[in-house]
Amino acid sequence: MATLEGEQQSCLAFCPKCGAFLMEAVSTSSSMPCPECGEPLVISVKNSKVSVFEDKRFKADADQERVARLKAYYSVKNRCKN
Ligand SMILES: [Zn+2]
Repeated sequence: MATLEGEQQSCLAFCPKCGAFLMEAVSTSSSMPCPECGEPLVISVKNSKVSVFEDKRFKADADQERVARLKAYYSVKNRCKN
């Protein structure tokens, strides 16, 4: 196996919430849920620097979905009462 020029070191990414190991990469930009706590995360590795942050967009979608489900639930409940 040939070694990479410039000796790029792979970086380790960990969940900022629970500290679980997420992945090892030299360069990446991907989103995945944390295997431990399920937090939707965006992992970015660039120039030997790791950034891990919450996938806000994913979270907003999940919240909207939950609100929609709650609304449906309550409308059914109200219908049963009357
Ligand atoms: Zn986690």
